[in-house]
Amino acid sequence: MTATATPTVSRPTGWWADVWSGFWTTLVGMRITLKYLFTKPVTVQYPEERMPIPDRYRGIHYLEQDKCIYCFMCARACPVDCISMEAVRHGKELEWVSFSVDYNRCMFCELCVYPCPKDCIHEGKEFAMVTYDRKELVHDLLSYKGLSPEAKVRLEVAEKEKAAKEAAKAAAKSAAAAAAAPPAPPAAPSSN
Ligand code: SF4
Ligand code: SF4
Repeated sequence: MTATATPTVSRPTGWWADVWSGFWTTLVGMRITLKYLFTKPVTVQYPEERMPIPDRYRGIHYLEQDKCIYCFMCARACPVDCISMEAVRHGKELEWVSFSVDYNRCMFCELCVYPCPKDCIHEGKEFAMVTYDRKELVHDLLSYKGLSPEAKVRLEVAEKEKAAKEAAKAAAKSAAAAAAAPPAPPAAPSSN
C-alpha cells in the first residue's frame, strides 16, 4: 500500500501579497460591520436601560408587611437559614423590629415563598446588589418599624374599650357591695 501525497496549494508570497491580504481581510471585516450598522441594536446601556425580565424571575425579596403574621413559616422553610425576624405582639397587632434576608447565603430558591400562609413574601425582579461591604448584603425587608398607623389606632380603641369595660365592672362590683351591706343602725336619741 502506497501513501497518497497531499496536494499542496501554493499561495502568493511577498510584499504585494501581504498588502493584498491586509486589504482583503479589512474589506471582509467591514462587510460584517456594515451589515450590523443598519440593523436594530441589541445592546442595552445598563444601568440606564435594562433588558426585559421574565415574570417568573426570582430576584430580591419584597414583603407585604401588613399581611405578615410573624409565623416563621418562611424562615423554617429556608434551607440555608438566612431569614430572621423580630416583632413584639400586642394582642393581634405586631410591633416590628426587623425582618431580614442575608444575601450572603440566599440562593434564590424560592422555597420560603410557597409555605407563607398569607402569600406576603415574594421574590421580585430587582437583582442589583453591588457593594464593597458584605454586611450590606443583609437586607431588611420592612417598609416601616414599630406599629403601623392603623394598628396604633386599633390598639388605642381596644385599650379605651378595655378601660371602659373595667370601669363598668368596678362600678357594678361596688354597687353590688353597697346593696349587700347591712343597713346602718338608727341614730341614738339626743340627751337634751
Ligand atoms: S430564596 Fe431560598 S435561600 Fe433565599 S431566603 Fe428564600 S428559602 Fe432561603
Ligand atoms: S411565612 Fe409569611 S406570614 Fe409567616 S412570617 Fe413569613 S412572610 Fe410572614
